[in-house]
Amino acid sequence: MNFIEVINKCKDCRECENYCSIFLSTGKYGPHEKLKIAKEILEESEKPKKWETVFYCTKCEACDLNCPENIPITKIIDEARRVCVNKWGIQFPRQEILTKNIFKTGNPFGKTLSRLHWLDEPIKEKSKTLLHIGCMYSYILPNTAKSIVKILNKLDVDFTISPNENCCGYFVYNTGNHTAAYKLIKNNIKEFEQYDRIITACAGCTIFFKQQYGLNDKVVHLIEVVDEKLKEKNIELPEIKKINAIFHDSCHISRPFDIIKQPRDVLEYLGFKEGKNLKEFDLTKELGTCCGADGGMRIINKELAIKIGKERVEEASKKAEILFTLCPFCINNFYKAMEDYDIDIKIKSIFEELAHIL
Ligand code: SF4
Ligand code: SF4
Repeated sequence: MNFIEVINKCKDCRECENYCSIFLSTGKYGPHEKLKIAKEILEESEKPKKWETVFYCTKCEACDLNCPENIPITKIIDEARRVCVNKWGIQFPRQEILTKNIFKTGNPFGKTLSRLHWLDEPIKEKSKTLLHIGCMYSYILPNTAKSIVKILNKLDVDFTISPNENCCGYFVYNTGNHTAAYKLIKNNIKEFEQYDRIITACAGCTIFFKQQYGLNDKVVHLIEVVDEKLKEKNIELPEIKKINAIFHDSCHISRPFDIIKQPRDVLEYLGFKEGKNLKEFDLTKELGTCCGADGGMRIINKELAIKIGKERVEEASKKAEILFTLCPFCINNFYKAMEDYDIDIKIKSIFEELAHIL
């Protein structure tokens, strides 16, 4: 792609800003501004004053979808970050720490516990289907990891988990250090050769495996498997609950892969039905705004990531008693926003709730 030619197609209409959670929350760091800074980064030999702007992005792809000129803004942001690293060696201090941790311990948090420390029920040693649970579930939300294994066992899914599981590299890629990210990709791809299918539990791993590993056909998100199995087994739907819930779509699987209907169908098994007690955000489904955490945002500016999450949690609390999500980044960020801003709502993982009823 000739990035400069593509950037020059921008008509300065600023439509993209209406869907950017960072711009909506701060009035700054909009996709239009990012394009202008990206152009300077790509063309100039001197580092532009506002180079940080291209890192203030969750990579949610809402701008790509809503640009009338079809400019692939997120791809341009990726390229600008890569050039920042290659031309000027730019890395935020926390980005450097997380990258070092990944190469030392296999996870960005530097945890030395076994990858499967949370596993509390038997799984098959061998299968042609791999469950890739991801760093976030393994080390930050291990109870949800347990629930996921319980659900797959209850639904008779044939799968295994590898004790050699490693970070997918999405964290590293988002820092702009593509050389380091491709080292991880190369090693993981070799490990994945033995499997016919990979079930991903984390939305970040899903988009990265599909887009950067080239494993689009081999990778399926957990919610797709769960939805299919629940229907196949003819599990009876419960009565509709007398409270309202709302579902937050995860940008990394809703917009690029149209995984929008499946989580809503699964929520019916928890007693929440679309058009009845399952409410929607003003911007929802393929237009839904981001939780604020991903794309490296929480690494470079945790407070801002949580502030962006607050906007979503506040809207949810006006419409429902429970906010459901299925992504570890969203859950983690929303939970912190709820606590920090003292918002009255329950935040739940679809998988944890489902594990209780199966
Ligand atoms: S929507 Fe597209 S054309 Fe309009 S300002 Fe944004 S990038 Fe430029
Ligand atoms: S990818 Fe999302 S966060 Fe980044 S500029 Fe586009 S809309 Fe904003």
